[in-house]
Amino acid sequence: MATYAYETHEYDVVVVGAGGAGLRATLGMAEQGLRTACVTKVFPTRSHTVAAQGGIAASLSNMGPDNWQWHMYDTVKGSDWLGDTDAMEYLVREAPKAVYELEHYGVPFSRTEEGKIYQRPFGGHTTEFGEGPPVQRTCAAADRTGHAILHTLYGQSLKNNAEFFIEYFALDLIMTDGRCTGVVAWKLDDGTMHVFNAKMVVLATGGYGRAYFSATSAHTCTGDGGGMVARAGLPLQDMEFVQFHPTGIYGSGCLITEGARGEGGYLTNSEGERFMERYAPTYKDLASRDVVSRCMTMEIREGRGVGEHKDHIFLHLNHLPPETLHERLPGISESARIFAGVDLNKEPIPVLPTVHYNMGGIPTNYWGEVLNPTPGNPDAIFPGLMAVGEAGCASVHGANRLGSNSLIDLVVFGRAAAIKAAEIVDPKARPMPVDKTAVDAIFNRFDTLRYASGSLPTAELRLEMQKTMQSDAAVFRTDKTLAEGVEKMTAVAGKMSDIKVTDRSLVWNSDLMETLELTNLMPNALATIVAAEARKESRGAHAHEDYPDRDDINWRVHSLAHVEGTKVTLSSRPVHLDPLTPMDQGGIDLKKIAPKARVY
Ligand code: FAD
Repeated sequence: MATYAYETHEYDVVVVGAGGAGLRATLGMAEQGLRTACVTKVFPTRSHTVAAQGGIAASLSNMGPDNWQWHMYDTVKGSDWLGDTDAMEYLVREAPKAVYELEHYGVPFSRTEEGKIYQRPFGGHTTEFGEGPPVQRTCAAADRTGHAILHTLYGQSLKNNAEFFIEYFALDLIMTDGRCTGVVAWKLDDGTMHVFNAKMVVLATGGYGRAYFSATSAHTCTGDGGGMVARAGLPLQDMEFVQFHPTGIYGSGCLITEGARGEGGYLTNSEGERFMERYAPTYKDLASRDVVSRCMTMEIREGRGVGEHKDHIFLHLNHLPPETLHERLPGISESARIFAGVDLNKEPIPVLPTVHYNMGGIPTNYWGEVLNPTPGNPDAIFPGLMAVGEAGCASVHGANRLGSNSLIDLVVFGRAAAIKAAEIVDPKARPMPVDKTAVDAIFNRFDTLRYASGSLPTAELRLEMQKTMQSDAAVFRTDKTLAEGVEKMTAVAGKMSDIKVTDRSLVWNSDLMETLELTNLMPNALATIVAAEARKESRGAHAHEDYPDRDDINWRVHSLAHVEGTKVTLSSRPVHLDPLTPMDQGGIDLKKIAPKARVY
């Protein structure tokens, strides 16, 4: 059994991840007087949240009438009736408060003439329970909203004495007697090992977009939290639901925000037709993402794609006044120029649906507490562990997330986790002693990978996984492609035992780090394709050609996937149908959010 010397750190709370979710949780915990450490593999303000452009949803009513009930209706419908009702209610009711808190912390939101927070339209956000015109609900700091939020939350966390461990790679959770008691991390710049002994661990490690070949997400989005949870024998939830963003720049995957269509942009096919008018007569180019992505794919499959290979679509912004482009979408102009060689004042941008968001993740309740469902108790809590942000699944996005509902999820649930932790973590109690056996098992796994001497370089196996996921677990899915995909992915995951790591050093060893990341991507990818193969219906982002309809009788359930090596065991847990607040106490009229056909 290999072992490594390590330094021990004791905290009330350790947050793994410094994106929007991790920083909001860190700040909240520190504000509550809990000794809080934030461990992150990249510098906080380089976390993937920095790329979020369009904005953050909250029914502030700054641009016209709006309310939390309309936001809730849109979120329920967006989720294709798979989201948990209590969590969705919590999200939309807390959203305005969470945004005003951000404002007071110092986020430099764009402003209206009267000085209020500027809000723009975003796909799927409507008025009058989907009967009225689109609403302007997405609060924006130009097209750099994520950047502004990260900088503000990082500054505030430092001000509140949270301690940061930057460029520390969390390897695995320390599990002692059925609870999480900490995390082991590898310090990338000097190779030292660190045990964080804590009363509460919060996973805020982001999504796993890099399981696919073409993704808008950063290279760091490798589902490390999901990997750790799977290795700990806990389930992942709703992994079959992967969102494709309609407008990734063709070739590079770089995102053009939905805010571009919010500001008046539109899509055309090779005939110059604004085809979304045909598929979604009411909301057109601002229908929800899965709908627009599917329509674009249909146009391309039916031979109406643009370009030499007729394999993409045009996004037009060239009709908009240059001042609007300059003021509202400055980052987009730059992306279009750099990644597509296009001057968007003059030409359309070539775009293609690209992997963008993972609705599935680590199951939690709306306080961020991780669930370990048992047959008798589908909401059983796993003690000592929380998950927030894209790593988690609360579940508010169900089968499909609405644009700008992720940033609000990060801050509402990061904040909720802090409120809950203040209730259940006793700052006066000492943490449990370090479980040396559990720590040694983590080092043993690390050492096995460090000295892995098979025949397959990590980059080669990763590419095989990404290509398989891209071809067999993408926008269109059939029984045949999914069954083939499961077989291929099982074989790909089986090749982990033949992995080759060439660099044995402990300092700045990207080969070993990428191998560790691959061991995290793999269970996420496997769970995704196996759960997709099993779900015999179409719902949200999971559009199944052989089962084109949603099946609420048999499939309005969350899927759970336990992954062990190449084996995935599926089960399910019921969707929460009850709201937080009964209607007679000011809650929503459940008739308003009852399941119906999801048309835009
Ligand atoms: P991240 O921001 O990805 O942060 C993850 C953190 O975990 C990082 O700090 C990383 O260092 C750390 N980490 C991961 N693994 C480890 C490990 N092993 N050890 C230590 N640390 C680790 N949503 C919206 O609502 N509005 C938008 O306008 C919007 N625009 C988007 C634009 C783009 C291009 C993309 C791809 C997404 C966009 N989204 C948007 C979605 C949203 O940005 C993400 O869902 C969200 O930022 C995820 O935040 P997070 O805090 O969960 O994770």
